[in-house]
Amino acid sequence: MVRFTPLLSLLPLLASASPVPGDDLSFDLLPRETFVDCLSAGKVPMVLQSSANFGQLASAYNLRLKPKPLVVTIPTTTTHVSNTVKCAKKYRLHVSARGGGHSYSAQGLGGIDGSVVIDLQNFHDVKYDPKTTWAEVGGGARLGNIARKLYDQARRGIPHGTCPAVGMGHPSLGGFGISSRYWGLMVDQIMQVQVVTADGSLKIAKNNYNGDLFWALKGAAPSFGIITRFWFKTYAVPENIVNYSYRFTGLTSPAQAADAFMTIQTFARNASKELGLGVSLWGNGIGFELSGAYYGKSQAQFNTLFQPLLNKLPPYSSSTLETKGWIDTLLRFAGSSTLSVPETGYNEHTTFYAKSLVTSNRAPVERQSMLNFFTYAANQGVSASNQGLPWFVIINLYGGGNSAITNPALLKESSYGHRDTLWNFQFYTTLSNGFSIPTNDAAIKFLTGFDSGVRRSGDFSYVNYADPTYSRSQAQRLYYGKQLTQLSLVKKKWDKDQVFWYPQSIDPAR
Ligand SMILES: Cc1cc2nc3c(=O)[nH]c(=O)nc-3n(C[C@H](O)[C@H](O)[C@H](O)COP(=O)(O)OP(=O)(O)OC[C@H]3O[C@@H](n4cnc5c(N)ncnc54)[C@H](O)[C@@H]3O)c2cc1C
Repeated sequence: MVRFTPLLSLLPLLASASPVPGDDLSFDLLPRETFVDCLSAGKVPMVLQSSANFGQLASAYNLRLKPKPLVVTIPTTTTHVSNTVKCAKKYRLHVSARGGGHSYSAQGLGGIDGSVVIDLQNFHDVKYDPKTTWAEVGGGARLGNIARKLYDQARRGIPHGTCPAVGMGHPSLGGFGISSRYWGLMVDQIMQVQVVTADGSLKIAKNNYNGDLFWALKGAAPSFGIITRFWFKTYAVPENIVNYSYRFTGLTSPAQAADAFMTIQTFARNASKELGLGVSLWGNGIGFELSGAYYGKSQAQFNTLFQPLLNKLPPYSSSTLETKGWIDTLLRFAGSSTLSVPETGYNEHTTFYAKSLVTSNRAPVERQSMLNFFTYAANQGVSASNQGLPWFVIINLYGGGNSAITNPALLKESSYGHRDTLWNFQFYTTLSNGFSIPTNDAAIKFLTGFDSGVRRSGDFSYVNYADPTYSRSQAQRLYYGKQLTQLSLVKKKWDKDQVFWYPQSIDPAR
C-alpha cells in the first residue's frame, strides 16, 4: 500500500555529513546525509524514536490505534514546517500534520507506521481582528481555547463541535456543531489560510488566489498541505440561547420508537435554521433523548415552534428547558466545566471505535430502517452493553428547512462532500477494558451491524469520524462523493508525488 520505503532501519547507521558537490569520490564511499541530518541542517526541533518522550508524544488520542511515526517534529516557526516537508520529500517519506490529535483513525500520526509527523502544538495563537471581524488562528489551536479567547477578546464566536480539545483537523475536514444549521460548518468559516505545500513552500490560499488549492484544503486539507494559520469569519454571539432536552425512556417497543423518529424527521425536514437538534441513545435499549439549542429570539418563540412536535410524540419522561449564554451553552454540550485546554503537552486518551452514516435530504430515512435501528438497539445493543461495550448513537440534524450547511452552492466553495445531508448518525463504542483483539473485533462487528441496518446504497460517511476499517477507495467515495474527481485533479497539480499520503488520503488523477 505505501509508496515509499522509508530507510527506517538504516537511519541510525548513516553518517551525518553531506556529500560534497562535485567531489569525484564514488557516492558509496561518501558519508551520506540522513533524513535526520536534513532536519538538523534545517534546525527543526524533533523527537526521535529513541527519545525518552517519544512514546508519550507519539500516542494517539484513540489508544485503539498505535501507528509508530518515524519522527515527530515540533516546529516553532513556519520555516521549520517547510524544512520538514522539504526533507521528507527529498527522502520520499510521507508527512502528516498533527493538530489536536483527536482523529478517530490516528491520522494525525499518519495512520500507519513510518510517517513524518509535524506536531503543530506551538502554533496555538488566537487573535481577533476588529477591522475584518476575522479570527487569526494557529494551525495547532484547539476548539475550547479558540472559543474562550474569542469570547474574552470580543464576545465573538465560530460554529464548531463539542469537544474543547479537538484541534484544527476539525475545520480541515468539516466541523459540525450545534450552531451549524444556523451559521454553517466550521470549514465554511475559513476565509484564508497560510499553508506549507508539498514542495515545502509557504503560501497563502484564498478565493481567487491559489483558489483551487483553497477549495481542496477546505474539506480535505490533510491530503494537500500543512495549514499553519487559518483566518475564520466570526459572529457576534447570542446570549439568549434556548437549551432544551426531552427524554423518552418510557417507550415500549422498537416500533413505537421508530414511529417517534419518523415524526421528528417530518418536523426536522422543515425546521428553521435557528434550531440545532439531535437524537441520542445511550447504550441501553430504545429510550432516546431529543435535545439541542435554539438560536432564535426567545423561549416563547421556541415553544411555539416545538410544542406542535411534542404534541405528536409519546409523553416524555423528563425535560430541561433553560436559556443560557454562548459560553454556558458550549460548556453544556462539552459536558465540561471549562473550555480551556492545555495549549502544549496535551496528554489525554481513550480507547474507542466509531462509525458514521450520512443520509440525504432527498431520500429521508424510511420507517423500516429506523425499525431495524431500534430493534438492533433493543437486542444486540443491550447485550453489547452487558458484555463490556458501552455505546451511544447521536443522530445530528444537518439539513432540513433553510439549514446553512446544506446549500448546494457551497460545493463550489469547499471540497467538503455532503451538502445534501439530512442526518449524520454517529455510532460509537468504548473499549472500556482497553484494547484486546476479541473486544476490538466485537466492537467492529457490533457497530457494523448497527450501521448496516440503516444504510442504503446512496448513503455516505463523515470524514471527521474517520473509520479505519474502510478501504482506501471505499473511504474516498464515502467521504467525498462527487467531489472526488475534482479533488484528484487538484491533488495531481499540487502533490502528485503524494508527500501528504495516509491510508485514506486523496489519490492524484492519472
Ligand atoms: C471527543 C471528540 C469529540 C468530537 N466532537 C465532534 C463534533 O462535535 N463535531 C464534529 O464534526 N467532529 C467531532 N469530532 C471529530 C473531530 O472533528 C475529528 O476527529 C478531527 O479531525 C480531529 O482533529 P484534530 O486536529 O484534533 O486531530 P488530528 O488527529 O491532529 O488531525 C486530524 C486530521 O487532520 C489533519 N490536520 C490537523 N491539523 C491540520 C492542519 N493544521 N493542517 C492540515 N491538516 C491538519 C491531520 O493530519 C489528520 O489527518 C470529535 C472527536 C472527538 C475525539
